[in-house]
Amino acid sequence: MLICPKCKEKLNIEGRTYTCVNRYCYDTAKSGYVNLLLANQMNSALPGDNKLMVQARKAFLDKGYYAPLAEALCRTVSEYASKGCKILDAGCGEGYYTEKIAVACPDAEIVGIDISKNAADYAARRTKAVKFAVGSVFHLPVADGSCDVLTTLFAPYCGEEFQRVLKDNGIMVMVIPAERHLWQLKCAVYDEPYLNEVKDFALDGFELLKRETVTGKIDLPCNEDITALFSMTPYYYKTSAEGQQRLSELDTLTTEIGFEVLVYKKL
Ligand SMILES: [Zn+2]
Repeated sequence: MLICPKCKEKLNIEGRTYTCVNRYCYDTAKSGYVNLLLANQMNSALPGDNKLMVQARKAFLDKGYYAPLAEALCRTVSEYASKGCKILDAGCGEGYYTEKIAVACPDAEIVGIDISKNAADYAARRTKAVKFAVGSVFHLPVADGSCDVLTTLFAPYCGEEFQRVLKDNGIMVMVIPAERHLWQLKCAVYDEPYLNEVKDFALDGFELLKRETVTGKIDLPCNEDITALFSMTPYYYKTSAEGQQRLSELDTLTTEIGFEVLVYKKL
């Protein structure tokens, strides 16, 4: 599935090095991921989540708070993953969900791609059953028409690129926050919280096959977990000093969580 980001030819692995027919080489890092992000595809020197954010996310997810989502996701992906099929997790982060997919689909070939080197490093340490690469979802280092299933969780959406890498009739499983996801957390931080906007699910070039809403409640027993959760949200950087102050004073919190698991077929 992986291709050379420079010439777009197939990559072959020889020992610890990926090589294309034009002899461009990409060494795997000690943990096992390969960096296929070209300098001109970066928007900063160290794109994506930094090490502290990755660690906070990993610590939070490993406590199982989002296990109901992982279960629903794996159930859905297994439904569409036939033996030997190729699965791409686009924007895989530190690999929490990718690893669960690998466990649920042991016969599949799975690739996870994230723009953060730190995230790819943690992901590669999680599981050897998945090939992890650093890359942009807007320039996926993945061959045309090579994926049976593509998963995208809370990650940037790039319809054209996802269309390109999917096989005809390929499946895209997308996860987005539901309307009341983290409602009580937002109420605790903001004077005027607003619900998540749930848009029309129609996407160009895809047919929506299925929608499953996963909801639950989680009890966060300490500020560390509350802060970690908040840092995983897009509101993190937009919060006022007052909001940050309120957040730092929260010792416990019970909040609703909610996710839309959407299954699309490439048209
Ligand atoms: Zn090449």
